[in-house]
Amino acid sequence: MASFQNLNLNKQLSSAIEDLGFEKPTPIQEQAYPVISSGKNVVGIAQTGTGKTLAYMLPILNWLPFSKQIKPRVLVVVPTRELVIQVVEQIELFAKYKTLRVLGVYGGVNIKTQKAAVAQGCDIVVATPGRLYDLAASRALQLQSIAKLIIDEVDVMLDLGFRFQLTNIFELLPNKRQNLMFSATMTEDVNQLIDDFFITPSKISIAVSGTPLDNISQTCFTVKNFYTKVNLLVHLLKNKEEFGKVLLFIDSKKNADRLFSALEQDFWSELGVIHSNKSQNNRIATIERFNDGVSRILIATDIIARGLDLDNITHVINFDTPVYPENYMHRIGRTGRAEKKGKSILLFTEEENTHKIGIENLMDFKIPEIEFPIDVEVSKELTPDEMPVMIEKNPHKKKTRVAGPSFHEKKEKNKIENKVNLGGGAKIKLKKAKKYKKPISRGDKTQNRKKKR
Ligand code: AMP
Repeated sequence: MASFQNLNLNKQLSSAIEDLGFEKPTPIQEQAYPVISSGKNVVGIAQTGTGKTLAYMLPILNWLPFSKQIKPRVLVVVPTRELVIQVVEQIELFAKYKTLRVLGVYGGVNIKTQKAAVAQGCDIVVATPGRLYDLAASRALQLQSIAKLIIDEVDVMLDLGFRFQLTNIFELLPNKRQNLMFSATMTEDVNQLIDDFFITPSKISIAVSGTPLDNISQTCFTVKNFYTKVNLLVHLLKNKEEFGKVLLFIDSKKNADRLFSALEQDFWSELGVIHSNKSQNNRIATIERFNDGVSRILIATDIIARGLDLDNITHVINFDTPVYPENYMHRIGRTGRAEKKGKSILLFTEEENTHKIGIENLMDFKIPEIEFPIDVEVSKELTPDEMPVMIEKNPHKKKTRVAGPSFHEKKEKNKIENKVNLGGGAKIKLKKAKKYKKPISRGDKTQNRKKKR
């Protein structure tokens, strides 16, 4: 049987684990420990909730000797600020009885304060790629002593367009180092990154995305449209006892805000929304309110919610049906964690039925359907996306279509070459795009976008 005793942890670590009340290692912890301890490069395929943070930190903390040196020896790169905070918190808990300096750095806050903190010296740096690169490029943060590099949530990172920053960071690291990489899904981008930079890694795969999670009971409803979904939600969420802590997934920022407005009237005091357009402070406060039980319902887009440590979620509700079945797996995996029972509900329109079938095929499991409650009103109101596309026809107009690249010339002032006044945002975006050679704000836009309509 798996046990922490089998791992031969040092006293400080085993006491910290004991304090946390963890009884036995999770499968990824058990499998990763000997491989990481042997110094091999490792690629771990594991979702949040599998205990992957401890899986990579345990062997590293067991090894990391005490030092007073300024330059860090362990670097953890994660995609979001929230994850930096969370990983730092976790490491501090695991390293409770060790004398260890952990520093979290991320963008959106004053770089000077962070430079000062870096100058104090640390053992482990946890960072988002952009800020890490800025700190390293300005030589405030010296990376020559990094012996262990961990890249967590690589799929999200590449999705957010961070490949360029990652490859730049690799160039600043010493060649002789151990690389550990974790990703919830294997995508072509992730594979490419491994091929390009990781020499013969050992692969550890946990909970293949496609395995229905045993402790999650899944159900679904066919629902007519967006606002009927809202009506159904209001009906369900009024049952506060049953729906104790609800994570509501939705495909885009725009729809997240639309849903928030629609639910605000009934649930304003217990509702929160997070997506990448919300300020960092706003997101942190919203997550805290949800985690502390002040708010009961959290609306989130896929990218922003991945990697967040949200405990005791009773229900995951998929307000829409993800185009990529893996995203459904990620969503529902946010409940039923740590062997607790969880529930997931999928709301799908007729149009989304093909995506639902894709999900069911991946899981090899048909999601039981619940009949639409008769006392819930079917709404006639449509969102702009649901409106039929109107093509106006003028029967009196002769068809004078001319073959060629366009029907009309652009007005002089609208021609690209004459548009010189790129105000504020556009200028900054161009500058950033130039700097990073990548679009900077793909975010959740690309996550579940309908492939074709
Ligand atoms: P992670 O997948 O790293 O985000 O971890 C998910 C949650 O599981 C965190 O809240 C951890 O504190 C918790 N956890 C990690 N390892 C164990 C374990 N062996 N037993 C119970 N809970 C754990």
